[in-house]
Order: sequence, then structure tokens, then C-alpha cells
Amino acid sequence: MSEVKRIGVLTSGGDAPGMNACIRAVVKAAIGKGLKVFGIEDGYKGMIENRIKELSYIDVNNVIHLGGTILGTARSEAFKTREGREKAVANLKLHQIDALILIGGDGTFAGGMALTNEFDVPVIGLPGTIDNDIHGTDFTIGYDTCLNTVVEAVDKIRDTASSHHRVFFVEVMGRASGYIALNSAIASGAESVLIPETVTDIPLLAKEIKDQNKGIRSSIIIVAEGDDEGGAKEIMAKVKPYLEGYDLRYSILGHIQRGGSPSAFDRILATRMGVKAVELLVEGKKSLMIGQIGRDLVTHNILEGTTGTVPNDDSGIQLLESLLTKG
Ligand code: ATP
Repeated sequence: MSEVKRIGVLTSGGDAPGMNACIRAVVKAAIGKGLKVFGIEDGYKGMIENRIKELSYIDVNNVIHLGGTILGTARSEAFKTREGREKAVANLKLHQIDALILIGGDGTFAGGMALTNEFDVPVIGLPGTIDNDIHGTDFTIGYDTCLNTVVEAVDKIRDTASSHHRVFFVEVMGRASGYIALNSAIASGAESVLIPETVTDIPLLAKEIKDQNKGIRSSIIIVAEGDDEGGAKEIMAKVKPYLEGYDLRYSILGHIQRGGSPSAFDRILATRMGVKAVELLVEGKKSLMIGQIGRDLVTHNILEGTTGTVPNDDSGIQLLESLLTKG
């Protein structure tokens, strides 16, 4: 029989669509098993400041479709110090919280490991970030919604690009990862994509744009924000000298990529992971992260989720190359 009776749940790092679906699943599954659930506001910051309150079924009514996170999120430098974590753990004790479910990225998982190693607090990590850059899972909560938002925006930009015969450089998020860029490029029919995982060759890009524009006279180039040659504005400036007579524009999609109602895929992923996290804690498991590989939920040591960069999908890169308009 498990000792876990009172679970804390928090969202931390960047917000991602689907976090609310995940909180909802945790609360409903836990109460259903006779546990109490406590929502910790603004991640580790709220844990240090004792902003912790019990959640009921009513608190998670009508939230599955909402973007952002009803618990709030924050980054906390204080939590990176031993003193900060001592305060946080004292507050967990105040509420007699036995275990934590952490929804966030690799930094959030690293924070959770510190709690386990130093204070023996059991934690389960769920990957929540639009960037899809966490080891041990094919998908992170929020990535699919973000991808759909980008595709919708690029479709709109394509209308003006084609009407005005312009070449558009569209910058998307993803930090050091090119997942959002690569897959939004495939889904939006972009003519080229520049991602951090491959070396960007400006003269080659200019040639590709010229080849594409023999027929259509407009193109969409998706630029990952972490590309080695810079963002959309910088890339456009670098390629401009090779493209005399072309009308070049750039667009930075920015924070619209984080928001919005989660896709069905993200809601289902978040719900499955939330329920699984509660089950694992009840079984007495700890220091695990949950991922989805193929169709199956899997668990790994939470350290897996903190191990550096995630390789991009080579087959996606090859797919786009096979679609390039050749001169
Ligand atoms: P995202 O991918 O959206 O940025 P993240 O979880 O990686 O999400 P971070 O800002 O890196 O976001 O981490 C969230 C919080 O986790 C930090 O603000 C900090 O409080 C805590 N944290 C990160 N790394 C550590 C660490 N090594 N030790 C203790 N706490 C940490």
C-alpha cells in the first residue's frame, strides 16, 4: 500500500497549451483514488512563497480547452539555491504534501531531481513545452498545438507572399531545437527551412530561392529562431546581396505560438500522462518522467529528460530535400 496521500502539482518554465488538460487529469485521477491534490502557483516560485492551495473537481471544471496554465508559471532563481529549496520543502511539509507532479521542461525536471536527492521528495516529471526538445518522448505537451498555430499563420502569410510575389522569411520558436521549424515547413509547404541541426549555407539558400522562383515568384522560408546564421531578419539581410530584384520580407511569429486552445492531440497526450503520473505515485514510484514513444506511454529516470539536445528527425529533413524545386 502506498504512503502517498497528498500530491502537489505545478507548472514551470514556459507555458504550453495542454498544461491545463494535464492539471485537470491529475486532479480528477487523484481525487478518484482518494488522494488530496494541491496546486502550487507559479512553479517553484510559488512553492518558496507558500502559494499552495487544495484543488477540487470544481477547480478543474471547464479548463481542458484553455491555453496557458491556470496555476501560473514562473522561473525562479531562488529555487536554484539550497536555501530556496529548503524554504520550498518547509512549505510542502506545512501542507503535508508527500509527492509532486511537475509539468515543464528539462530545467523543471532538474529542479525536481534536486528535491529528491536532497530531501527525498518523490517526483514525477511530465514534459510540457512547445519546443519538443525533451529526451525520452516523441512528443511534448504543447508541441502539436504550436505546430498547428504556426501552420495557420504561414498559410496566411503565403496569401500575401503569392499576391505580391514576395519571398517571406518566417521565424518560428524552438530555441536550440528545429522541430517546430522542420515540421511546420513540411505541413505548410514551405519552400525551404533553416534549422539549428544543419549548417545553413547562404549562397545555396539563394540558389534554392532563385530555382523556386523561376515558376512561382514567391516563397516561404521557415527559419528556426536558433539557426546558426541568425533569425529571419539576419538571414534575410545575408541572402539579400545574392537576390537582386527580389522583394524580400520577414515575419517573426513570436508569442502567438505559445497560446491558444490545445489541439485534440495535446489534450489526449496531457490527459494520458496526467493520469499515469498519479498511478505511478500511488504505486510508490518516484524520480521518473513519462514520455510517449509511438503510441505507448513509457517511463524513464527523470534524468533522461535533462540530458542535452534532442536530435531532429532526419527523415523529415530528407523529406523536405526531396521536395525542393531543382533548377
Ligand atoms: P522551458 O523548456 O519551457 O524553458 P524549463 O523547465 O526548461 O521549461 P527553466 O527555466 O529552465 O524552464 O526551469 C524552470 C525552473 O526550474 C527554473 O526557473 C528553476 O527554478 C528550476 N531549475 C532549473 N534548473 C535547475 C537546477 N539545476 N537546480 C534546481 N532548480 C532548477
